Amino acid sequence: MMNNPLLQNWKTPFATPPFDLIETSHFKPAIEESIMTASEEIKKIAESTEVPDFENTIASLDEVGETLGKITSLLFNLNSADTNKSLQEVTLEVSPLLTRFSNDITLNEKLYEKIKTVYDSRETYGLNKEQKILTERKYRSFILGGAALKPEERARFRAISEELSALSLKFEENVLEETSAFELHITDKEDLAGLPESLVEMASMEAEKRKKNGWIFTLHFPSYIPFMQYSEKRNLRKKMLMAYSSRAFRKNEFDNSQNVVKIVNLRLEIAKMLGFHSYAEMILGDRMADTQEKVEKFLEDLYNESKPAAFRDFNNIKVFADSLGHKGRIERYDWAFYSEKLKKEKYTIDDEILKPYFSLEKVESAILELATTLYNIKFVRNNNIPVYNPEVKTFEVYDRDGSFLSILYLDYHPRPGKNGGAWMTSFRDQKKKDGKDIRPLISLVANFTRPTETTPSLLSFNELTTFLHEFGHSLHGMLSRCTYESLSCTNVARDFVELPSQFMENFAFEKQWLDRWAVHYQTGEKIPHEILIKIKEASTFNEGYSCYRQLSFGFLDMAWHTVTIPVDDNISEFEARAMSKTQLFPIISGLNMSASFAHIFGGGYAAGYYGYKWAEVLDADAFEYFTETGIFNKNTAESFRKNILEKGGTEKPDELYFRFRGKQPSVEPLLKRSGLK
Ligand SMILES: [Zn+2]
Repeated sequence: MMNNPLLQNWKTPFATPPFDLIETSHFKPAIEESIMTASEEIKKIAESTEVPDFENTIASLDEVGETLGKITSLLFNLNSADTNKSLQEVTLEVSPLLTRFSNDITLNEKLYEKIKTVYDSRETYGLNKEQKILTERKYRSFILGGAALKPEERARFRAISEELSALSLKFEENVLEETSAFELHITDKEDLAGLPESLVEMASMEAEKRKKNGWIFTLHFPSYIPFMQYSEKRNLRKKMLMAYSSRAFRKNEFDNSQNVVKIVNLRLEIAKMLGFHSYAEMILGDRMADTQEKVEKFLEDLYNESKPAAFRDFNNIKVFADSLGHKGRIERYDWAFYSEKLKKEKYTIDDEILKPYFSLEKVESAILELATTLYNIKFVRNNNIPVYNPEVKTFEVYDRDGSFLSILYLDYHPRPGKNGGAWMTSFRDQKKKDGKDIRPLISLVANFTRPTETTPSLLSFNELTTFLHEFGHSLHGMLSRCTYESLSCTNVARDFVELPSQFMENFAFEKQWLDRWAVHYQTGEKIPHEILIKIKEASTFNEGYSCYRQLSFGFLDMAWHTVTIPVDDNISEFEARAMSKTQLFPIISGLNMSASFAHIFGGGYAAGYYGYKWAEVLDADAFEYFTETGIFNKNTAESFRKNILEKGGTEKPDELYFRFRGKQPSVEPLLKRSGLK
């Protein structure tokens, strides 16, 4: 045990994880050992004979399990970015240990009593804002964990919690199963009409893999989306859409109808046990939009604002389709097809034209320089920091006064063992300990196009905005200046956390910024002016329709989670009622959204789907302030840094936002940006 590097102090530069010394076999014993240590720490707090106060209870609790946290974040990060069979096995093995440990904490009665004592008199201790919020957060996590329930209710509570996690897993498995179950097998070349060559090639490889002739298209996005955009065969588009939108709703063993009903009713039961009227009321308690009324008003207002634009977009597509000889109504399976055609006709830009201006090398230095311009921070390459894969790049980040801020890891390309998508994460969050500022270790992981032998890595426009997005989260981590770890960096309310990231995406549409750096990787020529203008123009294309569609999901999510009496088993009728006012297309029977709505029944977006739009309102409003004062304005940037990026969750988000902006966020900038007004 003594030579397990996970349990030692790391004598690496900036105490970064010594990846070169860590082996998979080190994880389990180190986690077991550090759970024991953490349990001792918990016991010490719970059994202390001192009068409970903020320091000896709440602050001490935040310090519990420092080593455990360090090791688990390492394990989970590796399991996402650079995994293999044995690492996956270890992760599965330790997961129940970690769940049990966290249940043991929330269901520790002595500990809960102490927390409640501090919580009840939090106004009288002279606590500062950060300490008060930490007290409220800890208290809330105990309440939602069932700590205040009577002993006879606890068994039922635990049983429901366990059943709910099993149901969510089952829900997701069914959706996955049903997504993979369908194939569109084409053997007649004529049926490929309109499809791009790369897609046809992919479909032929898929057929080969399944030992069939011809071409196979599937419901996975890289196949489904372009098929719906480009296929000239209307009956085949219809077939694909019907298959996609009836996943887990086909009265077979993978049907999720009953799971939806069970999940909704069990969530309601838990909420009621804990004293709330509805599940939404329970979940929204610590959000920026902290009541059902606020969320509903938000969705309703945006609905009214976007309705004319949604109808305008819809009508534009109809007129365009008619001009190409389309007869009858526009069905759901016609939408993507005519949209894509119209977009191309109007803007004549696509990825192939843009990519040569966005080489990864240029994009990286442009984004780092943007941070330097805005916040006066510096990035210094360091090749001596241990990394988990030779492809990972590391930078030291320094503040304007030369003080050390953070380490930044950049991991750009897909490879076996790495999850899809892009994300920001940390190997250590920022906090103060014994008066010392412990700086964070931040990591940005992506799956950007790889270079080939002849071409450098050239990013699509979407990859450029993804980089900016994750870099925005990274700044939120790197610039953090808080005291307690569980409130620092990106540990903020879910409907606030996307503000720093979505904010950064705005720069991708700014001539002033692109003009500074985007040059053709071969000719060195600057990105042409007409392209810059078209990028901005194309960004409002069909935004009215998209907004409307996002809102319809928000309404559906809220409908399921604001019920106050158990629902019966007809999920079709329930869904039809919830979505009726956002229905633009003729209804096709046999289709259902809820049965495959994994965001809210599998993942963690229950009563939270509205958050996507909510954060867009914030980021558009924040960026408008930059547009008004100059997008590189140092004072505006300083205010964004001081009031948002440094503060984590140490104050209420609306107060932080108000201090940055000088007023409450308005929905107008979003409406303007998306061309809804
Ligand atoms: Zn994000």
